[in-house]
Amino acid sequence: MNFLKELLKKGAALINGDVRYEDESNQFCIMLRVCQIMLIVYFLLFELLTFIFWPEGSKLLVLPWILIIIGGFWTTYQFRTRVVFHLFSFFTIVWIWLFVRYFGWDVGSQHYLYPLLVVSFFATYDNIRGKVIYTSVLLVFRLYLFVFLSKRTPVYPLDLRAQTSFQILNMVTLFSILFYVCWMFSSTNQEAEKKLAFYNQRLKHEARTDALTGLLNRRSMMEFLEKRTSGDSEEFLSVAIGDIDFFKRINDTRGHNCGDEVLRRLGALFKDYMENKGMICRWGGEEFFFAFSDNGDIAHTYVDELRTRIEAMEITDPSTGEVFHITMTFGVEEYDFTSTITELIKRADDKLYAGKDSGRNRTVY
Ligand code: GH3
Ligand code: MG
Ligand code: MG
Repeated sequence: MNFLKELLKKGAALINGDVRYEDESNQFCIMLRVCQIMLIVYFLLFELLTFIFWPEGSKLLVLPWILIIIGGFWTTYQFRTRVVFHLFSFFTIVWIWLFVRYFGWDVGSQHYLYPLLVVSFFATYDNIRGKVIYTSVLLVFRLYLFVFLSKRTPVYPLDLRAQTSFQILNMVTLFSILFYVCWMFSSTNQEAEKKLAFYNQRLKHEARTDALTGLLNRRSMMEFLEKRTSGDSEEFLSVAIGDIDFFKRINDTRGHNCGDEVLRRLGALFKDYMENKGMICRWGGEEFFFAFSDNGDIAHTYVDELRTRIEAMEITDPSTGEVFHITMTFGVEEYDFTSTITELIKRADDKLYAGKDSGRNRTVY
């Protein structure tokens, strides 16, 4: 049992082994290796059927092909995908030709061209020209087989029983290979699509948010304000800009890390406080912007409450463990339904600076 497990593990490692060139897709080689293993099983079964139904023909007819496939397996570790695939195509075409010639059209070996065609689309991310040429070569070969070999008496004319058994084996193998290749194809595609959708979403999220505080950024707020003021909504809109007092001093005395911690703590506080009140964003370095769907008086009350909460907030310096406090100054402005966004922001900003001039830690409305 352990031996079997070990063998399976080794087999899986062999199939999943890396390609030689790092810039190439491992997946294609894995797919080709699995197809090659399927073909080895196919040739062994072919040999078995020959032994049963056509004993006089069972003189290791297929052994060379098994050796060639093993060689092909080895090439997947050695050469570039393109080379591996061309070698694989070449030998597949040769054995198809020989099998049609030896055993006749009714055995159906010619159908192995179809999986080859499908695999070719998986093999390389070539331009369409390469794929058209490859498809044309297969088509010409298929036409040649049909025109010149399909009506010819095979080298080894088989009786109906042998023919039927080979035909059935071919069908089962073909369906298995096609199933496997298409399954790989579709799952890769779906996975890529899923990944793309995920990255798209993340990119969108990153473009809209500030990495340090997790709040929305200035751009999102501007979009919101534009939307909010462009229609003919009669809902109130009040805005506030807040700036940390003497923030530079915190950076200078406690370090930038501690400054960042202050910004993060404020971000969390604002997010929590603004949950049902309006929008909040990190406007710039140490400035925050608030938008409320309320009149200026109410917004003023909210902002001033927030100001006292900030004042009371205990912040721990991450490097010294010391607890300290900060304050912020705010400018609040109510939208008058006629100004531009720039004018609205400018008025809030002027009030903020009036607050700074008159001593900081206050809300100016
Ligand atoms: P005032 O009370 O007048 O606002 O004084 P202030 O020191 O807060 O103002 P000033 O504009 O001089 O300083 C703002 C500082 O904010 C300067 C800058 O280094 C710092 N800052 C901006 N962004 C960040 C950041 O992301 N992290 C940290 N730690 N500091 C930042
Ligand atoms: Mg500032
Ligand atoms: Mg400041």
